Amino acid sequence: RAAVHRICSGQVVLDLATAVKELVENSLDAGATSIEIRLKEYGSVLIEVADNGSGVSPENYQGLTLKYHTSKISDFSDLQTLTSFGFRGEALSSLCALSDVSVTTRAKEEAIGARLTYDHSGVLSSQESVARAVGTTVAVANLFSPLPVRFKEFKRNIRREYGRLLSVLQAYALIAKGVRIFCTNQVGKSGRTTIVRTQGSGSVKDNIISVFGSKTAACLEPLNMEVSDGCLVEGFISRPGSGCGRASGDRQFIYVNGRPVDLPKINKLLNELYGSFNSLQKPMAFLNFILTPTAYDVNVTPDKRKVFLHTESALLTALKEALECVYTPDKY
Ligand code: ADP
Ligand code: MG
Repeated sequence: RAAVHRICSGQVVLDLATAVKELVENSLDAGATSIEIRLKEYGSVLIEVADNGSGVSPENYQGLTLKYHTSKISDFSDLQTLTSFGFRGEALSSLCALSDVSVTTRAKEEAIGARLTYDHSGVLSSQESVARAVGTTVAVANLFSPLPVRFKEFKRNIRREYGRLLSVLQAYALIAKGVRIFCTNQVGKSGRTTIVRTQGSGSVKDNIISVFGSKTAACLEPLNMEVSDGCLVEGFISRPGSGCGRASGDRQFIYVNGRPVDLPKINKLLNELYGSFNSLQKPMAFLNFILTPTAYDVNVTPDKRKVFLHTESALLTALKEALECVYTPDKY
């Protein structure tokens, strides 16, 4: 059974970036206003995510890491109106199969916290009382070590894995309003390097300044429009010629209702429109599409990054027209 589970878990936690994404989403779902991510050796030795959210109640200590255990959905019809990131109860169970997981937590009603460790089948293997402020710390050590081949490949590609992790963290740090996100990495015996830091501001613009600096933020044009019936887009895109275009295009962040998603056709459209000004560069973009829950499905892939928009082509046409108002040749 454990072996079957391991093969399946590969689908939820595909890489370093999805591991961290799932933990950060859990902290956001728990209502945290402060999330601290501490990495050792780019996350290959240790990923620790500490939050000041609701904490876990003792009756959930055991169930927490069991497959399909979730506190976020009680009825299948909830899926349509769901506002939390998690809903399938697969992340912690997958992480247990793929790494050494321990959780330190204290719920509001509890006088003292608990330090819990889990084995690779997600069974609670030790529990002790510890002092802790209300909130949860999940530690994931030695990611992928139970799968020797994957582990070797992971270590070999750690820089690339880390690059994806960084852009996932940036995506959440930018959109999370009122949440302070702080991430550090420690390599060897050297000190910790801060890689992402936001202040918990209520404005995305402030988050952009925190993550990318005020010089980058100054190149951005705000965007706030109805692109089609009931579909709004809000965000920022860089002005052509502002010096914020980049050869790599690694600064495009697309969201649906605040959830970071992959919509490659939107990136393509952005690059094409921007490309008529400077074909060598890609714009920076931060776009949040506000859609009614019935206009899309998020449950298409296990990592929930792929979404299916029911009216994608209409939306692309409308977005193109809207963007052409920003990217008009006579303006630049
Ligand atoms: P899901 O998020 O889909 O419910 P997970 O496996 O990610 O599934 O988490 C399982 C459960 O563990 C959650 O439903 C939640 O009750 C609890 N949990 C996980 N992380 C945290 C956290 N940081 N704070 C409070 N509860 C948490
Ligand atoms: Mg989750």
